[in-house]
Amino acid sequence: MSTDSQIVTRFAPSPTGRLHLGHAYSALFAAEACEPGGRFLLRIEDIDIGRCRPEFEDGIYEDLDWLGLGWEVPVRRQSDHMADYGAALERLEDEGLLFPCFCTRKDLQRQAAESASAPHGPDGALYPGSCRALAAAEVADRKAAGDAFALRLDMTAAAHRTGPLTFRDRARGESAVDPAGCGDVVLARKDVATSYHLAVTLDDAAQGVTLVTRGEDLLHATHVHRILQALLELPAPEYHHHGLLRAPSGKRFAKRDKAETIQALREAGRSPDDVRAMASIEG
Ligand code: GLU
Repeated sequence: MSTDSQIVTRFAPSPTGRLHLGHAYSALFAAEACEPGGRFLLRIEDIDIGRCRPEFEDGIYEDLDWLGLGWEVPVRRQSDHMADYGAALERLEDEGLLFPCFCTRKDLQRQAAESASAPHGPDGALYPGSCRALAAAEVADRKAAGDAFALRLDMTAAAHRTGPLTFRDRARGESAVDPAGCGDVVLARKDVATSYHLAVTLDDAAQGVTLVTRGEDLLHATHVHRILQALLELPAPEYHHHGLLRAPSGKRFAKRDKAETIQALREAGRSPDDVRAMASIEG
């Protein structure tokens, strides 16, 4: 159990490949951030059933253990909590904050190309709102016809509900949440009945995480998570978005670069201390 002042951090990889040096850095960062006397949790983010593999989950435990990290058990696996995500979606839906979106990837690409001057987020053009104003009868017809749909958060309505929000990052201080920069994010995918944003927000609260550490490439996601926390009356943790470890060439590590996985380094004869040293950012 955590006491009031105890720091609880987590490392939350997806088992879609073997861990690389960037993951090692992130895991070590989270484990160090709860010291002294805090709790370090591991969470398996496996909602993307099509891409996750049991052998990669085993690989996560094997690599982190080899690096000398310890974590609390049982480990939370997102695929075990789909009912919790469903309940939160139902609540948001009942509050009129969600709408079904039938757009295909192609539709979204075409819409983005047609409105090159439309607002952009980190993943490209923001959703232009095409399905937000669909008539109820059309929605009912399309659902009856079996057309697949995602559920999106009506961000304008959400921001109206929450009012202005901020979040605190250890490196950056207090930042204002920018709902317009998020757009109507997907909270339940067509193929998976939740999304990264919803699952992470609910899990961090359910696990009592007080300090979310992750790469600065996910800073934009924190705006969405803060809004969801406010809508779902969840506590707001503190954040520390860290810099990204890069290869000497300057490029980011990726799961597809097999040579830089922890497993490959181990098999090439590197020790845990070697890999810990490689997984550190100088200065
Ligand atoms: N599962 C995410 C990833 O592997 C990390 C999520 C997070 O730290 O919020 O990139």
